[in-house]
Formats: sequence, C-alpha cells, structure tokens
Amino acid sequence: MTRSTPQKKLERIREIWPMLRKLTGPCRACGRACEVDRPGGVQGLCRAMSSAGKEVRWLSAHLHFGEEEMLVGRGGSGTVFFSHCTLSCVFCQNWNISQQGQGTDHSWEELAEVFLRLQDEGAENINLVTPTQYIYPIVQALERALQEGLDRPIVYNTNCYDNAELIALLDDVVDIWLPDFKYMCADYGQKLSAVANYPTVAKEALRAMYDQGAAVRMEHGVAQKGLIIRHLVLPGGHAGSIEFLNWLQREEMMDMSLSIMSQYHPQYQAHRYPEIDKTITAGEFNAAVDCAEKLGFKAVIAQRML
Ligand code: SF4
Repeated sequence: MTRSTPQKKLERIREIWPMLRKLTGPCRACGRACEVDRPGGVQGLCRAMSSAGKEVRWLSAHLHFGEEEMLVGRGGSGTVFFSHCTLSCVFCQNWNISQQGQGTDHSWEELAEVFLRLQDEGAENINLVTPTQYIYPIVQALERALQEGLDRPIVYNTNCYDNAELIALLDDVVDIWLPDFKYMCADYGQKLSAVANYPTVAKEALRAMYDQGAAVRMEHGVAQKGLIIRHLVLPGGHAGSIEFLNWLQREEMMDMSLSIMSQYHPQYQAHRYPEIDKTITAGEFNAAVDCAEKLGFKAVIAQRML
C-alpha cells in the first residue's frame, strides 16, 4: 500500500473535521475520556491547556537521529516533542516534558511553519511525539502545511493509549503509526501509569492501526508507510513482553515491524517502586527477542543492550 498524496490527505482532513470536533470536545481522544472541551481550551486529565492563539505546546522541534534507522535515513526525523501526556508513567525518561509540561505555547499556524521548516531542513518525515492531547490543532497545522507544500510521511509516535476511533479517523492522514505498547496487565498500568484500562485501550488502538496496512513500505532505506510497534522491556516482566508477543501472534498481527527496546533505566519516580528500580538483565531482554523470533515475526528490530 502506497502512502497517501498531499491531495488525498487534504481531502481526508476536510472529511473528518466534524468527527474530529466531536471526538475532542467533549474529549475522548485517549483512554481517559475525560470529556472536556479541548478545542475550546479546557484542560483535561492530560493537563494540556490551550487558549486562542496558543493552542499547542511543545518543547523542541528538530532533526532527530536517535530513532530507528528506518525513520532517520540521511536527513533525520523531523521530530516535534509535544508537552504533557495522556499517561503518567512513574519511570518516564522525558518526565520534564510529559509530566511537568515543559515547553512553550504556540499557535497552530506556528506549528504549520515548523512542519515546513523541518521539511526544508531535510527531514525524512514529520514525527509527532506524544501528539494525542493536541490532535485538533495538529490537524489544523497539517492542513495548512499540506496546502503550502508539505510532502513528507507523517509519523504518529504515541504511547498507544489512544481511542481507536481517533486512529480510524486519521487513516490517510498519518502514514506511519509508531505506538509504544507498554503493559499487558491492567494492574501495572494503574500502578505505574495511573490509568485503569491501558491494555484494553491499547489493544483496540493497535488493531485499528494494523488494519490500515501494517507492512512497512520503504523507499531509499526510509519508511514511507506502515506500522512499527515499539515495546520497552521492563524489569521483572512488568511489561508482560512474552504475553504481548503471544497475543500479537494469536491476533494474526505479524506483518508490522517490531522494535524491542532495552533502554529502560529507572528515572523520575521509579525509585519509589523497588520492583522497577533497576535496569533489565540481558536474560530478560534476550528472552523477549528470542520469543519474537520463534513466534515468526517478520521484521524484528532488537535494540542493542546499553
Ligand atoms: S487527551 Fe487529555 S483531554 Fe482528551 S480525553 Fe485524554 S486526558 Fe482527557
């Protein structure tokens, strides 16, 4: 499946405006479904706020070379790190951005200019990091940037705690889904990320992403379309890695790229939770990678143990 043209993206955006407005005010964009009027500027449980002319906050927007090789290419990934998050992970490595909301408020028009600047700087894609709480102004900015010549794959880099309805709406707007699937066990989602329904919401979101075409299509060594699932192995099996891989196989979700990550380090408030106040072992990581290979996943990317 080829990625949609700018024209196709614009047509899709025009089509989804009423549904997107309905989904974000009262807001049900993420699994918290706290039903505040996000386009109207009301703060939700994600703590993201907006006001006229300051609809979106981000900390940085630059070419990033630390993502998976297939997203970086030669030019780098044009990454925008949005402030706040729909989860409250006690081990977040970007806690200053996600939990403290560090960043500067901007208008959606300024965001459109940033997308175009990143393209001019040679970005291989536009990589939206933790975008869900700002999805309305982000789509406004994408529409403007597409009208003014944006033609790079759009990457949706998310914690996977997204309403499946939102994922379906963004079909043909987003080219590459990049979800980080965190837990198979709802109790760990509650304890470590403060949400009661993580696995239910994330599984539905993954299915909606997968159904848009999962096999990653490459051009000149750079991903253009498809699904890249990230999964961070946690100490003591808290992410349920083996169970997750077996679930994917049972669901016959095998065609995407699967990036298994070893980079967990106890940060932020992890010291309060002895069970995750340590790094993972090589044995824990290798068990996840071996399991993925034995189950027959077609494209496994195993991060080097740090
Ligand atoms: S994105 Fe924010 S405002 Fe919307 S449902 Fe989630 S927590 Fe609530």
